[in-house]
Amino acid sequence: MNHNTNLDKCVACSTCVVQCPVSEVTSKFIGPRMLGPASQRFRLLNDGEDNSLSYCTNCKNCDISCPHGVDISNINMLARAEYCREHRPSFRDWVLAHGELEAKLVRYLPTFLANMGQANPITKLLLSRLGISPKADLPKFAPKQFPAMFKAYKQPEGLTKKVVFYPGCFVKAYAPQVGMDFVWLMNKAGYYVECPDTFSCCGTPLYTNGFEEDARKNAAANLMEMAKWHNEGVPVMSLCPSCQLMFKEYPVYFPDLAETAGSTDIGDCMQFVIECIERGELDPASAAVQTPLDIIYHAPCHLRAQGIGLPGFDILRMLPGVNAVNADAGCCGISGSYGFKKEKYDIAMAVGSKLFETIKDSGIELVSTECGTCKVQIMHGTGKSVAHPLSILRQRLEGSN
Ligand code: SF4
Ligand code: SF4
Repeated sequence: MNHNTNLDKCVACSTCVVQCPVSEVTSKFIGPRMLGPASQRFRLLNDGEDNSLSYCTNCKNCDISCPHGVDISNINMLARAEYCREHRPSFRDWVLAHGELEAKLVRYLPTFLANMGQANPITKLLLSRLGISPKADLPKFAPKQFPAMFKAYKQPEGLTKKVVFYPGCFVKAYAPQVGMDFVWLMNKAGYYVECPDTFSCCGTPLYTNGFEEDARKNAAANLMEMAKWHNEGVPVMSLCPSCQLMFKEYPVYFPDLAETAGSTDIGDCMQFVIECIERGELDPASAAVQTPLDIIYHAPCHLRAQGIGLPGFDILRMLPGVNAVNADAGCCGISGSYGFKKEKYDIAMAVGSKLFETIKDSGIELVSTECGTCKVQIMHGTGKSVAHPLSILRQRLEGSN
């Protein structure tokens, strides 16, 4: 997509401004219309960058709302990448962008040491000096990460169908059980799961924090691996809406790579589970646990931006005894690592406040969402338990709750 052409579709209606959760809570951000299509005209004249560029969370609510299809968030992200080519991002942003590398390093540490920053005032102080808010709840590393759990897990013999699972950094390092729940569901539906080590971080944290070249390397490796499986006719899918969206946006950020790679469209695990249900390979009506359970569901912005519906919510509503309601209260505010940054923490909490209030007012104790960092933010903002829709599906089918 040519973003310089796309900006001319803007008719300055300001719909995107009304829908931008950051514009709503802070005057530090000039908003999607001004930062996106309007500023792009000045950028084309080499007329400098607006100071508020880093305040865009890349949540995509502007794109969802624009009646003229202006690719506003990507105008912002491409401008940020260009800005960071000339202006080195901070060490704090390097740390937040390279979570995959840090997760690999902490595998060699005892879990209590890896998670020391959560409770230890000295590490909190050091993180604060670095520019990470001491008020933020950083996600905790799991005692055993997904690659080790997956390797140790013996899948049933005789499965003839196959899928490829792209776990993404959050599942790998912080929520491996969600990945294993997906593997369990696939095995139950008759599929053998492949999870190649060659897949890297999708690149979202790298690109949004200004490390374009690192993101490019990851995109190249991922697209090569994905093309291999596509050529064999094996579907590749991910649980994480942000990873999925990044794959779909590789053609915007790295058009040269995407041109040679074939399809960059990665599947959604929840959609695939629904297809399994439709084919009769899984049956939610057979759930062993049918005791009543109220759940309030949050749709991540990066899922809504894909326009594929809310398959995770649909799965919850198929479960006997489950009463699932959609919170429908906008962005949670975290946007990857945005809400961990010292200067952005209060903005992120203000953005999420409507969702937090809706959840608290519902009186429902269990929240469900697909996104790992939305989960971290919702737990932080409400104190409620949060579970992935597929973990709930497994628990109900297996009868373990
Ligand atoms: S919603 Fe679209 S057309 Fe309206 S101001 Fe925003 S970018 Fe321009
Ligand atoms: S991506 Fe989100 S924060 Fe950025 S301009 Fe669009 S709506 Fe606002």
